[in-house]
Amino acid sequence: MHLEVSEQSPILIKSQQGDYPVDFISKPSSLTSLLPKSGEIFLLADRLVMDLYKEKLGSLVSFPTFLVDANEETKTLEGVTRLIDWLLEKKATRSSHIIALGGGVIQDLATFTSHIYYRGIKWTFIPTTLLSQSDSCIGAKCGINVLPLKNQLGVLHSPAHVVICSDFLNTLPDVEIDSGYGEIYKLSLTGPEHFFDALALIVASDGHRNPEILEVIRRSLLCKKLVIEEDEYELDSRRILNYGHSFGHALEALTKNEVPHGIAVMWGMDIINFLGVKWGITNPELSKRIRNAMEKSTTFSIKNLPSAAAFVRMLARDKKVENGLMYFAVLHDSGDLRMHPKSLDGDLIHLVQKYLDDSPLFFTP
Ligand code: NAD
Ligand code: MG
Repeated sequence: MHLEVSEQSPILIKSQQGDYPVDFISKPSSLTSLLPKSGEIFLLADRLVMDLYKEKLGSLVSFPTFLVDANEETKTLEGVTRLIDWLLEKKATRSSHIIALGGGVIQDLATFTSHIYYRGIKWTFIPTTLLSQSDSCIGAKCGINVLPLKNQLGVLHSPAHVVICSDFLNTLPDVEIDSGYGEIYKLSLTGPEHFFDALALIVASDGHRNPEILEVIRRSLLCKKLVIEEDEYELDSRRILNYGHSFGHALEALTKNEVPHGIAVMWGMDIINFLGVKWGITNPELSKRIRNAMEKSTTFSIKNLPSAAAFVRMLARDKKVENGLMYFAVLHDSGDLRMHPKSLDGDLIHLVQKYLDDSPLFFTP
């Protein structure tokens, strides 16, 4: 896997709401040439990103701008209301176009608001975190919090355009880069375009901020594209993208979001691989290789781990529980993830406890 040029050909995502291109550019200043040609533009931006990049964004900064802090309070109904009040005050119409600049928080706020404003307006996403560039920018989903609960409300509203510029990653803190790799590892094991072995080699020799990051992002998106184009509304096969997320979400909730999302996903992949091996589903040798790659992937450490019973109680509140059975996305082999229903019973608590007693990933007592 090697990339000679810094600009790549676009990827076209097929969507029932309208296909959209993902463009790759090397400098933020090139954004100007990709802006929508029709409709009045309104910029929604992460305040921190704007502070860091305003001199480099060209004419983008000349449009009416709404700045927000990228935190979980921003993506709530109150946050949506503040943005809508501002759009109304600025006389945004049905043909207006929102440009969203930032990570997943800004994406969620933009998706939800564009979906409901005058029954739906167009929006363009310029993701600035590794997690949003390599994973969440395609697929059209969003989650709005009803605090303290996360992502209780949501809609699917495809962007009209996604523009990726890996230059933004230069200022992203290391822990956010590590978090992005959680979803990258997951996608690298998903479907016919799986590329886990190549990814593990790159990370082992050059770390997370490697010269091939743009190609890593691109290959992650190609893995996700196949899944979301087949089942955009997550009625069936898209559920495999929840690999690592059942226990990952439980860990986030039980630690009050002290563990960043992608790091919780890596932890969740490790424990479901452990369980998958015990259930006779997961290839044990692959499970070991994934663990080896992920354990060197961050210096973030989890201080206190909840009990096995607390994990299983939290799983019972997951959206993927049906008739008392939890549907886990389990890895069979590289590129082969499938859903498996399991009872949330004493046997599961026993196995989870075994994992916690053994040597859980990222845990330093
Ligand atoms: P984020 O938007 O929470 O941003 C993380 C931090 O990085 C913030 O402090 C932000 O200001 C800063 N930041 C962003 N870009 C930067 C840059 N280029 N340089 C320096 N700092 C920068 O990050 P995220 O991880 O992309 O998003 C997490 C949120 O996204 C969560 O709320 C999660 O629920 C949501 N999410 C949504 C989806 C989806 O499909 N809609 C998927 C995954 C996560
Ligand atoms: Mg995720």
